[in-house]
Amino acid sequence: KQEIDDAINKLPEDIKRLMYPFEYSSTSTRKKTEERIFCQRCYNLKYHNKLTTTSSSPSSSSSSSSSSLWQETLTMDKSFLNFLQKKKNSIILTIIDIIDFPGSLIKNLDNLIGKNNPNILIANKIDLLPKNFDENMIKIWLKNHCSENGLRNIHDIFLCSAKKNWLIKDLCNEISKIKNYNDNIYLIGNTNVGKSELINSFLRTYVHNGRKYEVTSSHIPGTTINMLGLPLNIFGDTFGKNIKGISFNNNNNNNQGDRRFLFDTPGIVNENQLFHFLDQEEIKMITPQRNIRPFTYIFKPGKSLLFGGLGRIDYKMGKNPIRITVFSGLDSHITSIEKADEFYKQLSFYEEDHFLKPPIGSIERLKKFPEIIKSIKNLKVVSNEKLYMNTKKISILDVVWSGVGWCSIGGVKIGETAIFDIWSPDGKGVYVRNVPL
Ligand code: GDP
Repeated sequence: KQEIDDAINKLPEDIKRLMYPFEYSSTSTRKKTEERIFCQRCYNLKYHNKLTTTSSSPSSSSSSSSSSLWQETLTMDKSFLNFLQKKKNSIILTIIDIIDFPGSLIKNLDNLIGKNNPNILIANKIDLLPKNFDENMIKIWLKNHCSENGLRNIHDIFLCSAKKNWLIKDLCNEISKIKNYNDNIYLIGNTNVGKSELINSFLRTYVHNGRKYEVTSSHIPGTTINMLGLPLNIFGDTFGKNIKGISFNNNNNNNQGDRRFLFDTPGIVNENQLFHFLDQEEIKMITPQRNIRPFTYIFKPGKSLLFGGLGRIDYKMGKNPIRITVFSGLDSHITSIEKADEFYKQLSFYEEDHFLKPPIGSIERLKKFPEIIKSIKNLKVVSNEKLYMNTKKISILDVVWSGVGWCSIGGVKIGETAIFDIWSPDGKGVYVRNVPL
C-alpha cells in the first residue's frame, strides 16, 4: 500500500488528474479527500449517497442500471460462508445491529459455519439505544435469543458502537487474548449491520493515518461487493502478537503473519429486513441519528398504533387499557382501528404532507409500495402472576419491525388477556420477542 501511495505521489499532476477526476473536481472536495483514493462508485456512495455502476467496480461487466447493480451485489445465498467450516484456527466476528434484533442475525449460523472457530458476537450501534441500558441484562438476553435462532457457539458477546468507536479497544483486547489462532479473522453479518464501519473503527483506533484505508460504509445495503482483506500487520499488535511463534513483523517475507488478513465479507441479505422495500431517502428517514427516546402511550382496546406507513399494531380485544412503549426513530401515531383501515386503503392518505411515511414521494412510488397486510393475527398477551411477581416488571413482550423499531407491550392486568393484530409491508419483517427478565 505504501509503495503504491509513493508511486502515485511521484506521478505528474496531469496524470493524477486523469486518474482521479473526483479528487481534482473542486478545491473543497480536494481538501477533504487528499488523503484518500476512491473509485467512482465509492466516491458517489460516500459524498452523494448514490449507488452507481462504474467501470472500476468489480461487478460492472453488465450494463445494468444502478438499481439492478444493487440487486446483483447483494448476497442472497449465505452458503458461501460454508468455507469457514473447513477453517480451524480462524476467529469469526459475527456482527448484529442491536436495534434490529433478531432481524439482523444470520439464522442457523452454527450449522452454516461449524463450530471449529471461536465466534465473537458483536452487537453494534449501541449509541442508538435509550440511555442507561443494562449491559449485562442485554448480553444474557442476546445469548438466549441467539441460542433459539441456531447460534450457540458464542465465545463472548460485546456491545459496541463502531460509529462512535465505543468499546472497540475492549473488543480488540479480547480478540488478542484468544489463544491458538493462526489464521485470518472474518467479519460476517447481514447487510447494514455496520461491518464496514467496524473495520473503519479498528483503523481509526489503531492505524496511524488509518483513514487512508477506510472501506466505504453507507446506509445503502450491499455496499461491500467482495471479500475485502486488510493485512493484520497494519494493526501492529492489536489482534495479538507472536501467536504460535509467528511474528507480525513486516520484514520477514516468509512469515505467515504477513499473509493473515481481517476480512470484511459481503453482507447476507435477509429479505425480512424492511429497508429492502425502501429507497435511499426513505432509509435515511427511518434510521435514527441519535439514541432512541422511548414514548409510552396508554393503549385502549379498539385502537391502532401506526409506524409511519410501514406497520401498525391493533389492540383488537381486551378488557382494559394497557401500556405500549415505542422505540423508534420514526414518528408513531394512535388512531382507531377503523380509521387505520381507511388510511391504508386510500392512497391519497400517503400524500406529501401526510404522516404515513415512509413511503414518500409521488403516487407512482406509492403504488409500487407493497401492501400493508396482517403479518401476525390474534397475538395473545397473557399476563401471568408468576412473571409479574418474580420480576416486578409489567413489560412482557416486544413486537419488532425489522430496522424500523419496536414496541413493548406492558401493563396487561394479571389474569387478563390482550389480543393484537400486527401489520407490515407484504407481511414481512415482524418479530415477537420476550423482554429481558
Ligand atoms: P455493512 O453493510 O454491514 O457494511 O454496514 P455499513 O458499515 O455500511 O453501515 C450501515 C449503516 O449503519 C451506515 O449508515 C452506518 O453509518 C451505520 N452504522 C454503522 N455502525 C454504526 C454505529 O455504531 N452506530 C450508528 N448509529 N450507526 C452505525
